[in-house]
Amino acid sequence: MSAARNVLAPETRTFLHCRLKNRDGSRCFYCRRNFRRRPGRRKTLDHYIPHRIWPGWNVDNLVLACERCNLAKADALPLPLVWLLLAVYRPENWELTA
Ligand SMILES: [Zn+2]
Repeated sequence: MSAARNVLAPETRTFLHCRLKNRDGSRCFYCRRNFRRRPGRRKTLDHYIPHRIWPGWNVDNLVLACERCNLAKADALPLPLVWLLLAVYRPENWELTA
């Protein structure tokens, strides 16, 4: 994780939290636990596709996640995305050019 990745103005962070809450509700994207019912559960911004692959703060690539899920996912691709990629890019679908 680079230092520049975390540089986000507080008002921008607040704006993104509000936007994602309106889009996805007040729940962790991964475990679906409600943030409102767990006041101690810290809400974080998570890059669904890891920041190293899709850098920036585009709202299309952001979800709200509890700190626990965010730390558990770390810099990995979400499993459903991996399944999707495997389904689309199966070896039998590859064209042989040699
Ligand atoms: Zn969670």
